[in-house]
Amino acid sequence: MKVIAIANQKGGVGKTTTCVNLGIGLVREGKRVLLIEADAQGNLAVSLGIEEPDDLEVTLVNVLEKVANDVPFDLSEGILQYEEGVDFLPANIELVGLETTLVNVMSRETILRQYILELKDRYDYILIDCMPSLGMITINALVAADSVLIPVESVYLPAKGLQQLIKTIGRVRRQLNPQLEIEGIVLTKVDRGTNFAKDILRKLREAYGAQIHIFENCIPLSVRAAETSVEGTSIYVYASDGIAAEGYAALTREVLFNGWS
Ligand code: ATP
Ligand code: MG
Repeated sequence: MKVIAIANQKGGVGKTTTCVNLGIGLVREGKRVLLIEADAQGNLAVSLGIEEPDDLEVTLVNVLEKVANDVPFDLSEGILQYEEGVDFLPANIELVGLETTLVNVMSRETILRQYILELKDRYDYILIDCMPSLGMITINALVAADSVLIPVESVYLPAKGLQQLIKTIGRVRRQLNPQLEIEGIVLTKVDRGTNFAKDILRKLREAYGAQIHIFENCIPLSVRAAETSVEGTSIYVYASDGIAAEGYAALTREVLFNGWS
């Protein structure tokens, strides 16, 4: 099993869209996949057809509370099946509360890892959709992960925020999870009509290319991709012959090629 955290503390860069469409892409390649939503916004749940995540009875929060308190639980608890063949564990607004209570918990950085280790025989890939911050829940995701995939939006030069993220990944690696790798940076929302993305890609390669894999395949800017987040389907079903579906299928193959499994 491989665990990939999809992280960037900048909001709206395509983390959730990438989590859903890479996850379902891996399912389409025959893999058993679980998506974990580590974000109180509940956007992943909405993308997978849950209209009101805040009304869900059981979420990641309940499961993590049980792990933190050493209460036994059913491994399937809270995990939902989405019709395109992917399993997911949603989250909602209650995750905000958990983030603050975790501060007082023993091994607070490893709660999510403890949970995921229990699931390792059930899945080939677990993808964690991180929230746009570097708080305790995101640290838990980085500690639980084998690698981090970083979506970067191609609208401006992401220099500073990206450096902070890479620094945090380095700290987690030194102090908590020495195996943690960077899966790569994927450029999202690329407008194929302009050369702007090419420029950003070149600058990313110059600045980080020596240490970090930069994915060959970029995710194009696509209205259809934006629509899927409210439509409750993946890009493969919603716009199967579009450029975004093609982009995510190519990213999926690159991730498969990158890793073992
Ligand atoms: P947050 O930080 O809030 O969790 P995020 O990084 O998860 O955001 P998404 O929710 O995936 O980002 O995407 C942000 C917005 O951009 C959404 O409205 C989504 O539909 C849209 N979007 C994502 N990918 C694309 C794309 N390739 N083309 C156009 N719009 C996109
Ligand atoms: Mg998101």
